[in-house]
Amino acid sequence: MTPIPELIARKRDGGELTAGEIDELVLGDVPDYQLAAFLMAVYFRGLSSRETFALTDAMVRSGDEIHLGAELGRRVVDKHSTGGVGDKATLAVGPVVAACGVPFGKMSGRGLGHTGGTLDKLESIPGFRVELTTDEFVAQVKEIGIAVVGQTADLVPADKKLYALRDVTATVDNVSLIAASIMSKKIASGADAIVLDVKVGDGAFMKTLADAQVLAEAMLELGRHAGRDVVCELTDMSQPLGRAVGNALEVREAVATLRGEGPHDLTQLVLESCAHLLALSDLGIDHAEGRRRAERAIADGSAVEAYERWVEAQGGNPDESALSKAPLIREVFASRNGYVQRLPALPIGIAALHLGAGRRTKDDAVDHAVGIVCRRKRGDSVEEGEPLAEIHAHDEASADAAAAAVHDAYELGDEQPGEVAIVLDTIVA
Ligand code: URA
Repeated sequence: MTPIPELIARKRDGGELTAGEIDELVLGDVPDYQLAAFLMAVYFRGLSSRETFALTDAMVRSGDEIHLGAELGRRVVDKHSTGGVGDKATLAVGPVVAACGVPFGKMSGRGLGHTGGTLDKLESIPGFRVELTTDEFVAQVKEIGIAVVGQTADLVPADKKLYALRDVTATVDNVSLIAASIMSKKIASGADAIVLDVKVGDGAFMKTLADAQVLAEAMLELGRHAGRDVVCELTDMSQPLGRAVGNALEVREAVATLRGEGPHDLTQLVLESCAHLLALSDLGIDHAEGRRRAERAIADGSAVEAYERWVEAQGGNPDESALSKAPLIREVFASRNGYVQRLPALPIGIAALHLGAGRRTKDDAVDHAVGIVCRRKRGDSVEEGEPLAEIHAHDEASADAAAAAVHDAYELGDEQPGEVAIVLDTIVA
């Protein structure tokens, strides 16, 4: 065994570590201060693709692996987003895919910082249990066709440890570390085919398309190594996805999308993601037929029925009227005529966070009812005095602060900006 300081020094000086040495760091009993130093060395020096694969593999082996496909005798599909503002796509994609007869099993995370997490959105549904055992998870995918749960303690524990250290040592936004973190969880939780939604823009980890392409390529390569089929969609996060930002508000918008009444960008993203997942499934259909089937599931009501079955199976009440409502709704008005030029995602995400929709530390409680509804988005016209957005708040002071931040975030101008497609690029392994 090489002493840990030597491994840290080699990485610090730009050298390469072997798979065995990476095992030592990830699976050994290494104190946090040495791991933190190693992470900072990786942050500056990066990892080669061999090292990134070895890191991912060691992380997968740090805990249990679920072989969902083998348990079901079917190809199981999964989707993952790198995180954004207003991203409730999973809540709609899962039921559509399940309604089309393809098993959907997913382990999700909670939001941290300005990005929302699927688990927090699901917990805004009264009674919904996100903590199923592995056996319950597998049984539900088998019987109901869909389950979305929190990461169990025994699945990729090395990611939990490394992610917590990255979070407090300014080493989160490194491509190799993000790719290994996401793909280790996807590989260990057992789906055969995965659609990765890599968000691009001010509200995402990856701010430019070029950076997002590098992350996508790294994750595709890890998927190839692990024998999984992966498609990466690079999607716009320069404004919030859909209109709603905040947990219960986003659940309502996802259900509206399942009824065919969702906002255009979210609907397009959901249909595209479903088309890829259905094409990667064992139905033996192509992307175009996948999209037709997804559209049909929304139009004939089977997607909403799948949503209701899923929520009930996890103990939740699928009735929308059961979702909590904020006591106070404040409108934000336009101070001039014009078109929305920009509605950056980051300040909207931060305003929702300050309202209580997210956590500033891991231990903060989330207020499921609060958030923001962006009634106007990029390219929409507005007259002076018309509402741009609604603030759903718990009290006057937080409503005032959010209203001011949201008003400032909207950039209005005379010219209508060109449309930006929600899917900017698609990369297939
Ligand atoms: N999501 C993850 O699961 N891990 C990261 O490192 C970043 C986003």
